[in-house]
Amino acid sequence: MRKKTLHDLKDLKGKIVLVRVDFNVPIENGKVTNNARIVAALPTIEYLIKNEAKVILLSHLGRIKTEEDKKTKSLKSVAMEFTKASTHAINFVAATRGKKVEEAINNMENGSIMMIENTRFEDVKNNILVNYESKNDEKLGKYWASLGDLFVNDAFGTAHRAHASNVGIAKYIKESAIGFLIEKEIKFLHDAISEPKRPFIALLGGAKVSDKINVIDALAKKADKVIIGTAMCYTFHLAMGKKIGKSLAEPEKVDLAKKLMKKYQDKLVIASDSICTKEYKDVKGKVYENIPDDLMGLDIGPKTIKVIKKELKGAKTVIWNGPFGVTEFKNYQEGSKAIAHELINLKDAITIIGGGDSAAMAIKMGIEGKISHISTGGGASMEFLEGKELPGIAAINNIN
Ligand code: AMP
Repeated sequence: MRKKTLHDLKDLKGKIVLVRVDFNVPIENGKVTNNARIVAALPTIEYLIKNEAKVILLSHLGRIKTEEDKKTKSLKSVAMEFTKASTHAINFVAATRGKKVEEAINNMENGSIMMIENTRFEDVKNNILVNYESKNDEKLGKYWASLGDLFVNDAFGTAHRAHASNVGIAKYIKESAIGFLIEKEIKFLHDAISEPKRPFIALLGGAKVSDKINVIDALAKKADKVIIGTAMCYTFHLAMGKKIGKSLAEPEKVDLAKKLMKKYQDKLVIASDSICTKEYKDVKGKVYENIPDDLMGLDIGPKTIKVIKKELKGAKTVIWNGPFGVTEFKNYQEGSKAIAHELINLKDAITIIGGGDSAAMAIKMGIEGKISHISTGGGASMEFLEGKELPGIAAINNIN
């Protein structure tokens, strides 16, 4: 069974197409600091415009828990960035529903774009947390669906959540499809795990251990090696009886780590040494295998780098999620830089980097153009690799 894609939507001319995009971009002092997610959504938007549809964009931005949050989380600055990133004008309507929105839609010309306000503004009403968007309120999904003829979901980053602006709209609209970005995400991630070119190596770093510990099991079933580094590895170090000092770990997951180490003895490669420091600060650190009580590991050490380089030699598929050190700090980028260097020099390999932090890291290291695919969704790509169904994609029409 295949999901409908943009090419399956016929007679687009004059149709009102609601497009869920992921414009959840970083903003500082009212300015977008990284427009990668906007750029990633352009192929879908441009295709619809070329076919003379009327395009209505919906996106969330950050979390809205109070009326105060709304002051800094308006999509207005994103709309301004959109006009710079694309050649198209956009009509931003500062409302999520009601007369203003409906009138603006009535006045749309074929091939034009409008965007409504942050969908999560619907989570707070009169300063009370109602979560209409985030809890997929039926009425809200139905209302948004009533504004358009067709729905396109192209927000991979939120596809693992059932919200009114993805699952809700899809349920009530006549016809729905996935956009080019989601299509590309599915293709890369699906192909990588279902028919990987071997050797297939997975690299798991970052800080959110509980998010990723389940994916280890799924990946270890398919990959030839699963390499675990930085904060991810300290829970395993605890399981081995190693000292980790003040490093980030999840002691309640030690039993699970033990089970995984036993089950996948030949596949798991766990970082051995770390660069350590007293405080979470960008100062030069020292290398340890057993970390003294007053120190914490913030990067992988030279011995681990050597092992990883050896494992990556000749790899044909590599999935990398989570930086292998605190790459925001200049002193703790060496491990990730070394991995990045190996990855871009692999011959005929499919290389995939997943997750917001990992994507930012790849951009900082200037390797984004040399990687086969950089996934726009951290949580979504992890759940996809775990084999879970993503509600935002499941809700879209199938091709019969
Ligand atoms: P994640 O979202 O799980 O991929 O985690 C990414 C974050 O992990 C980045 O902000 C890194 O700075 C952080 N990180 C990587 N290694 C460590 C470490 N050893 N200790 C603390 N944080 C880390």
